Amino acid sequence: MTRIELVRGDITQQSVDAIVNAANSSLLGGGGVDGAIHRRGGPEILDECRKLRASHYGKGLRTGQAVATTAGRLDARWVIHTVGPVYSGSEDRSDLLISCYRESLRVADELGARTVAFPAVSAGIYGWPMEDAARVAVETVRATETEAEEVRFVLLDEGAYTVFAAQL
Ligand code: ADP
Repeated sequence: MTRIELVRGDITQQSVDAIVNAANSSLLGGGGVDGAIHRRGGPEILDECRKLRASHYGKGLRTGQAVATTAGRLDARWVIHTVGPVYSGSEDRSDLLISCYRESLRVADELGARTVAFPAVSAGIYGWPMEDAARVAVETVRATETEAEEVRFVLLDEGAYTVFAAQL
């Protein structure tokens, strides 16, 4: 059984095996969680991302997919980069958001990660309403078979934390 934990704080400061990055398809950095990971983790992570682009993802990582790098100066051992869907009011893209959590946990299992921290993927710059982002996140993690012993949702602000707590 996987334990689900909630933490209010900064995902880059978590002592877990793997932290998940709400990346974009370029894998070359951005704002929000992505910016914080590269700032705090140092240039090694970006170097690895560049190599991944050159070797496997010439056109970028597709939405809903996930790929791992090491974690530079962070406490975590790995960063799992996943590309969330941009929210759309006219088209249901939740399958892609579900895929982010499932693929990230699949990659975590491949790595042998036992503790995995997720941010609220897509719920920042990509505009996904927090209530729905939390519902998809919690339902998907609950429904996914994984070797991870703990999945930790790390929410930066009180509002997001409260929404996730209500969902749990
Ligand atoms: P996306 O582009 O997928 O929407 P963002 O990184 O913009 O991703 O935001 C995802 C969520 O993560 C938002 O709720 C945002 O407030 C939150 N967030 C931003 N920085 C951090 C951080 N350092 N730790 C945890 N959560 C963060």
